[in-house]
Formats: sequence, structure tokens, C-alpha cells
Amino acid sequence: MDLIWSLIVYSVPLAVTLIWYLRRQQRIHAHDRKVLEESVAAGMTEPASLHPLIDESKCLGCGACIKACPEQPHHEVLGLIDGKAVLIGPTECIGHGACKVVCPFDAITLVFGTERRGLDIPLLKPSFESNVPGIYVAGELGGMGLIKNALIQGQQALESIAKAAVKLPGALDALIIGAGPAGLAASLAAKKMGLNYQCIEQDSLGGAVFQYPRGKLVMTAPVDLPIVGKVQFRNTSKETLLKFWQDATKRNDLKIRYQERVESMEKKDGAFHVRTGSQQYVASAVLLAIGRRGTPRKLGVPGEELPKVVYRLIDPEQYRGQKVIVVGGGDSALEAAASIAELGDTAVILSYRGEAFQRAKQRNRQRVDAASSSGQLKVMMNSQVKEIRPDEVVLKHNGKELKVSNDAVIVSAGGILPNDFLKSIGIEVETKFGTA
Ligand SMILES: Cc1cc2nc3c(=O)[nH]c(=O)nc-3n(C[C@H](O)[C@H](O)[C@H](O)COP(=O)(O)OP(=O)(O)OC[C@H]3O[C@@H](n4cnc5c(N)ncnc54)[C@H](O)[C@@H]3O)c2cc1C
Ligand code: SF4
Repeated sequence: MDLIWSLIVYSVPLAVTLIWYLRRQQRIHAHDRKVLEESVAAGMTEPASLHPLIDESKCLGCGACIKACPEQPHHEVLGLIDGKAVLIGPTECIGHGACKVVCPFDAITLVFGTERRGLDIPLLKPSFESNVPGIYVAGELGGMGLIKNALIQGQQALESIAKAAVKLPGALDALIIGAGPAGLAASLAAKKMGLNYQCIEQDSLGGAVFQYPRGKLVMTAPVDLPIVGKVQFRNTSKETLLKFWQDATKRNDLKIRYQERVESMEKKDGAFHVRTGSQQYVASAVLLAIGRRGTPRKLGVPGEELPKVVYRLIDPEQYRGQKVIVVGGGDSALEAAASIAELGDTAVILSYRGEAFQRAKQRNRQRVDAASSSGQLKVMMNSQVKEIRPDEVVLKHNGKELKVSNDAVIVSAGGILPNDFLKSIGIEVETKFGTA
């Protein structure tokens, strides 16, 4: 009898715990499967750069990689489906590589590209020089993502340029394209070595970091910067990091020109002739520190140069009390429109030229539907922006022109990747299809 009672006393809680655990696992798996299905349905299956490839035969589903991913608390990157780790949000992966380090069964390899879409990585010498003599590549464009790597490579590439010591009359010693972490470190190195240099940036200081959402936790590691010395940041905020870089550029009077995009480049008589929207530069050497995220696609309409037009939502709060038009039909457009509309004291129009939001995740479509039903958001399908004026926007909607009162425009119409630019200047690349 005692034995039976003992069995009941011990086995019931055990069974309850087991059932609770299995149910919880089921819920997690179902949720993660849904996230993956949404990513596939929205065509968001290709990671931007380095990402984990999980060997199913080795993965035991312990979940250590999911816990280790620094992006995971804010985004759904890795998940568990049928007891195996899966990259459920491929476009959210930014290549920290923390998952690989913690996997106890060596089931993760970090790779570039996928079987479906190859990723072009420029072929570089150890000096960071490409196959075109005089053109160097640093940072994420060369395949090495993350802030610390980009900072280190930027300065190393500049040191190689200084060492090559090609000085053509009337030409800059170095033209640095891009002022993300790689371009910033390169500019500091150029200044430290007394080179005649110029850095050109199509947008703002910080590159991808400038584009992070407000308050994003940035995980990085200490690094030595030219002139500045040891920088101790590990876990910091986007704003703190940017402020530190802005102060460094001001204090050292770095030669960086903003809002200028490099459009073409050709080599004549040994020098690089680089054309931007407004200037032409001649340089003995060029450093491409342009990252992989490309250039936002523009609408090409009158008034687009007005300061109220931006190409990415950074902080919905800044639009409180404003009349905003968001242009686009993908996830970022839907997310931007919904999050501003949800503030409640805004008037938001989501303008899309298509008939349906086919490229967006279901949960973003639902968010837009909810905001639209509650009157917080006006969705205008089959509409196109024709002109942007200081206090209004001219739209063409179902064949008719109309003017709407407006304070701000957010264009989320995708980006032009750097691949064609690389080809146009003769840079040889290796296309990686899911290989290291
Ligand atoms: C959402 C997100 C979160 C991230 N979080 C982290 C993190 O926590 N920790 C971490 O270490 N890394 C993180 N990363 C990765 C990190 O931001 C990048 O690896 C790093 O910024 C790469 O630096 P880069 O200088 O090579 O390129 P970028 O930062 O991409 O800078 C390239 C610059 O070149 C400019 N440019 C491009 N084309 C032209 C042109 N034709 N003319 C002029 N200028 C041009 C761009 O405007 C841009 O400013 C994150 C990335 C993303 C997207
Ligand atoms: S850490 Fe390794 S074994 Fe554990 S879930 Fe991730 S890939 Fe699988």
C-alpha cells in the first residue's frame, strides 16, 4: 500500500510537469512555425549577410542558440520547430555569430548567401585591395559584418593605402565612400597619417547604426581607434554610440561630406574619377566602405529633396501630432504606418501603387487592417505620389489627382543593392550560395 501511495505522490507531479512542459513546447513550436511561414509568405527568406546554417542531424534542440542571439529579445530570429533550431526570421539576422559559439553539438556553421540567392563577396587581398589596383574594400561589403570588424578593417585598409603611397598630381590620396563604422575609422586613420583624403556619405554618419530603431541595444566590443584611442563600449545604445562618433568627427574636424551619393567611377590615366550627384573627385585610391544595405529607392518626384522626406522610420514618437504619408507596400512600410497611426494623435495615409499587400507579413497586414478599421489609418491602394510640397502632397488615386495636407513623408520603397555598382567598376566577386 505504501508503495502505491509513494508511486502516486511522486508520479502525479512528474506527469503534470511533463504535460505542462510538452504543451509549452508545442505552443513554442506552433508559434515559431507561424513566424517562419510568415517570413516565407512575405518573401523574407534571405539573410543580408553572414548567418547560421543549422545541421539538422547534429541539432538536439537544446535552444542554447536561441537564448544566445543578442537580437532575439526584440526580433524573432531563431526558433524551434519539430525539435530542431531553425532560422525563422532570416532577414532579422545580422550575423553576430553568438549562436555558433554556444551550440554544444557543433551544429551551426556561419555562411554567406543561400542555395536560392547567392551573395557576391568581392575578392580581396590581405591588404583589402580588390582585383582593381587602387580600389580597396572594408567592412560589411567585404563580407565582414558587425561594428567592431568594420572599425578595424576601415583603419587597416587605410593603412594599406598609405603604404602603397600612390600619389598622383592633383588627386586626393584617398577617397573614402561611406561613413558607417568602416568609413569613420578609415577617415580617422587618414587624418592620423596626414593623408589628403575625403569621405563621401549619401546619408548620415554611422551607416547602418544611424538607421537602427531608437534606443536599440548595440552589442559590440572594445576597439582601438586612430587618434581617439581605446573605446570601451560593449553593450550600449544606438544614441550613445552615435553621439560618441559625432563628437569624434567634430573634435578632429574629419573631412566627411554628407547627403552626397557616389554614382559612378572610372579609371583614367591611373586616377579614379568619381562622380556624385553634385561633384566630381579625382583620387589615387578609393576605399569602398558602402556596406551591403544599398541605397533607398527614390520616388523621383518633384519636392522629394524637401527635408520632411525620409526613407526609414527611426522613431514613431517624432511624428506625434503630425499628418504623415507612408509610401510602400512591404513590411517596413506597413510597420511604419501602423506604429505611427497607433500613437493616436496622428493622421496617417498609407499609399501603395499595387492592389494588395502581397509582400508583407500577415501580422503586419492585420495591424494595418486594425488601425484602418479604427479610423487611425487611411489606406490608399492604387495610389501614387506625384509631387511633394512643403505643406501638402499631390497624389494620383484611382486615376484622379488629389491634394492632401501633409507634414512628413516616409518612403519605404526598397533599396538598390551595390552589386551593379561593383560590376560597373570591374570588381571581381565570388558568389557564395550558403557557404562559409
Ligand atoms: C538592425 C541591425 C542591427 C544591428 N545590430 C548590431 C549590433 O548590435 N552590433 C554589431 O556589431 N553590429 C550590428 N549590426 C551590423 C552593423 O551595423 C554593420 O555590420 C556595420 O554597420 C557595417 O559597417 P559598414 O561601415 O561596413 O557599413 P554600413 O554601416 O552599412 O555603412 C555604409 C555606409 O555607406 C553609405 N553608402 C552606401 N552607398 C553609398 C554611395 N553610393 N555613396 C555614398 N555613400 C554610400 C551608406 O549610406 C552607409 O552610411 C546591425 C545591423 C542591423 C541592420
Ligand atoms: S544550440 Fe545547437 S543543438 Fe541547441 S538548438 Fe541551437 S543548433 Fe540545436
